[in-house]
Amino acid sequence: MHARLPIAVAPAHHETAASYVARLANLHGIPFPELWRQVSRPRQPASTTMVIAGDRLSAVTGIPETLLARALIEIRHPEPDWLAFRHEPQHGCPRCTARHPGGPVRQLFPHHRYVCTRHRIWIGPPDLLDLPYPSLDTLPEIVAAQRAHLRLLHRLGPAATYDAVLTGFLVCGHRWDQPAHDPDDARLTWHERVGALIPSGEEQDTFSTSRLFAAVYPEAVKTAALIGLLRWRRLAAGAPPRAAPVRRRDRPPPRRTRLPAPHRRGPDRALDRRGLLAPAQPTENHLPHRAQLRQQRHTQGQPAEHRPQPPQRHLVRPKPPRRPRHPLPPPHRPSPGPKLVHPHGSVHRHRRRQRQHLRR
Ligand SMILES: [Zn+2]
Repeated sequence: MHARLPIAVAPAHHETAASYVARLANLHGIPFPELWRQVSRPRQPASTTMVIAGDRLSAVTGIPETLLARALIEIRHPEPDWLAFRHEPQHGCPRCTARHPGGPVRQLFPHHRYVCTRHRIWIGPPDLLDLPYPSLDTLPEIVAAQRAHLRLLHRLGPAATYDAVLTGFLVCGHRWDQPAHDPDDARLTWHERVGALIPSGEEQDTFSTSRLFAAVYPEAVKTAALIGLLRWRRLAAGAPPRAAPVRRRDRPPPRRTRLPAPHRRGPDRALDRRGLLAPAQPTENHLPHRAQLRQQRHTQGQPAEHRPQPPQRHLVRPKPPRRPRHPLPPPHRPSPGPKLVHPHGSVHRHRRRQRQHLRR
């Protein structure tokens, strides 16, 4: 049974277990090895390597293991993609970790985390530990580049984004020593950013390679957005280029399938005896079919009698004859009965009058 610590301290996001246990030990005045022994267990039954145990840490701190797993990266389940994270923990944004007592907070960040966008602080991959991070209040384009980097990550995934941004940094590093011939050259912008991140006369205290990376970070992300495109990645892999997709507004209008009005049909577009539309003749307002164009291109040099004739093509199916709204009356037919003949030779058609005549 593990004793519960009296001071409840929550871990920081992406904090390592060793950093969290060290802060707990500092707050309670306990040696770190002693507390670590209580919250860890051997990796294997016969192993001497101790790893953090989420259930034991939860029992000691009083914080549910599910909440601890959201912050501490080592006890997350399922296990994170370790290739997406840096190889070394670092101290993060000082303003984000200021509310966590007990000592410095060591965090393990993913490769795409360069800027604290909330506090505008460059935290990029540090090359000198414990060096204060520069503020980006006067360089908002670097903060915007971090947001563009996250959008790129959402689109390409972690592996392709990492390769693309790294290649972007290499391109900018290659461009670094070349002279600028244009007033809009990014090389001049880099010089201004370096002057803001590493002020002249303070190089002994402020110089670091990480700040040079910050100076070219916006252009590196822009280059990565081009390199990361699937079309360019296919070209780099040696695949033949594909035609760019046609945007909706650039597509040709659909072929009209309605029967044109008689005054627009023209003399050559009359209906044949079957009621179908005659084959279209190329006019100014009517473009021939693509297959016909291709056929004309192949038979351009042949004489006219050897060229194949275009197929008989009908645009629409004729409509059935329209039925009248009200049916017509039946046609008049003569009475099928026998005709009545008078003695003097006249003929009566009405039966009733014939009967009256007979009674007389
Ligand atoms: Zn922050």
